[in-house]
Amino acid sequence: MKPSSNKRRVLLVGAGHANLEFIKSWRASDHELAEFTLITPHTHAIYSGLLPAYLRGEVGLDEMQIDLPSLADRHGFRLHFGKMRSLSVEHRHIVLADGSCREFDDLFINTGGQPPSAWQSTSTRCLHVRPLANFLELWEREGQEIQRIAVIGAGAAGIEIAASLVGSGDFAPTREVHLFESRDDLGLQISKHGRLRLRKGLQKIGVQLHFKAHFTGLPRLPELALGSSRLKFDLVLATTPTSPPVYNVDRREQTLSVDEQLRLQSTHADRRSGSHVWVTGDAVAESPWPRSGVSAVRQGQALRQLWRASVTSGAGGAIRKFPTQARPLKLQFRQLKLLRVGNQVFGLWGDRVLGFSMILRWLKSWIDRRYMRSFSRCAEKTLR
Ligand SMILES: Cc1cc2nc3c(=O)[nH]c(=O)nc-3n(C[C@H](O)[C@H](O)[C@H](O)COP(=O)(O)OP(=O)(O)OC[C@H]3O[C@@H](n4cnc5c(N)ncnc54)[C@H](O)[C@@H]3O)c2cc1C
Repeated sequence: MKPSSNKRRVLLVGAGHANLEFIKSWRASDHELAEFTLITPHTHAIYSGLLPAYLRGEVGLDEMQIDLPSLADRHGFRLHFGKMRSLSVEHRHIVLADGSCREFDDLFINTGGQPPSAWQSTSTRCLHVRPLANFLELWEREGQEIQRIAVIGAGAAGIEIAASLVGSGDFAPTREVHLFESRDDLGLQISKHGRLRLRKGLQKIGVQLHFKAHFTGLPRLPELALGSSRLKFDLVLATTPTSPPVYNVDRREQTLSVDEQLRLQSTHADRRSGSHVWVTGDAVAESPWPRSGVSAVRQGQALRQLWRASVTSGAGGAIRKFPTQARPLKLQFRQLKLLRVGNQVFGLWGDRVLGFSMILRWLKSWIDRRYMRSFSRCAEKTLR
């Protein structure tokens, strides 16, 4: 139903990094234009940057979670618990997993990536790290019993997770951790020398590396065949790449592809309806952006301005052009990656290797704390 006030109905689907940035950048004047509703399946958003610190026992679960009811309440956003299943751009509505329907004028999709079907969790002990909530639930419940772990995928996430699961780094490893990779080296696009340094760092803290170990999906039991032997584990955890989610858009199974300004590419029907659909973060198909939390945050920071410009500029309401000169959304190819390995952090700037350093460890902890504090800071600002 259209609100009586004639305000735009803005639905934010998924409490990913970009939508959270949009909520943080909220101003009272936005509520004169629109009513905002956040649709999320969970009461908390989890900050993946703190997962390594959590696995090492340095932070508790509550310290890596953002309380969504309280965030929404402070910013005057409505909250609706649900999971989007499909959307109609033509009729301007989304359908949730429970079959209910929500109408929109503007839609922000920030639902992250999901593992391809062969890599979706098959049992409680054969999991993909995504969705994070499932893995954390297992770890809270049974983490103490899990001693022998296989991590599949030696990209940045797999490396950090394996290095954190092995123990605190101060003493001998507390768990037996095997890291498997289908290629003949770590799965990072950096120099050979950089990979060698990282491999040595991982081996030093006790991570057992297995290259050219090709798996096509998660097994049903926590066992992996390696050559002629069968290795048994307490947990097999996949950290293989995720793909953008596929929603049924206007009854055509298709991925969403967006232009460089993050708007769903229009069809004739969209143009008639004058609706805006914005897709951000790991949910974007064919994106020139690196798939990372940093990209999603940057996009979310630009989203409010792009959205406001699209609803306030131009009469008639059909296709609105973005004011690219106002604050262009600058594509960030090079990003800082900080991987905690033992007591140090291994830094990368794009494909440039910064190496191991204690200063980078301090920097990572500062970035993580600053990010989490930004949610309480914006709470204080709102309350004042
Ligand atoms: C261990 C690990 C460490 C990482 N560390 C870093 C790091 O240090 N720096 C960095 O830049 N990147 C890091 N990443 C990558 C980063 O986590 C992702 O790229 C980032 O989370 C993507 O953000 P997003 O905003 O697209 O979505 P997400 O943060 O994935 O959030 C999506 C949200 O949408 C919800 N959702 C899903 N489906 C639906 C639906 N159908 N309807 C409604 N809601 C839905 C989910 O529950 C979730 O809350 C790390 C990843 C891992 C696994």
